[in-house]
Amino acid sequence: MQHQEQLEVDGEPVIVIRSSRRRRTVTADRIDGVLRLRVPLRMSAREVSRHTRDFRAKHRRRSARNTRSDAQLLARAARLDAELFEGRARPVSVRWTDRQTTRWGSTTSADGSIRLSSRMKAMPQWVQDSVLVHELAHLLEPGHGPDFRALVGRWPHTAEADAYLAGVSFGWNNPRLRD
Ligand SMILES: [Zn+2]
Repeated sequence: MQHQEQLEVDGEPVIVIRSSRRRRTVTADRIDGVLRLRVPLRMSAREVSRHTRDFRAKHRRRSARNTRSDAQLLARAARLDAELFEGRARPVSVRWTDRQTTRWGSTTSADGSIRLSSRMKAMPQWVQDSVLVHELAHLLEPGHGPDFRALVGRWPHTAEADAYLAGVSFGWNNPRLRD
């Protein structure tokens, strides 16, 4: 017997799969950045919360080691600018932000700053790069018209990354449809 539910622990979602076949062990993985725990059928809510916090702390330590720093993001953005836009976008800063929950990236063209949502930290680098390219293109073209689309079209992974991110958003809004 197996039963899946989505809960919140410390304001963050966690997917919990309870199984009568499990005795004591708890395992965890991630689906698009959301923690998923497999636990014994009758584990108490308190124990579930405790395991959730433990696994989150472990994942945070691991992703801190693999995440590109703000300086690395800026270096990458400058390189993409040189390769795709003849160095005309001139990004001045790139940083991760926890504030951004409805957009993957944003740009302030007045000062050349780019922000990326920290929810992308665990995603593949080519997906992060695609959002960087989108934001770099905004430093040259504010809207999403034909000129903008021609710019982002120079990056070969734009369509694929859009599909990836649309899938992630869909998964977050419909967690029960997954697995
Ligand atoms: Zn845009």
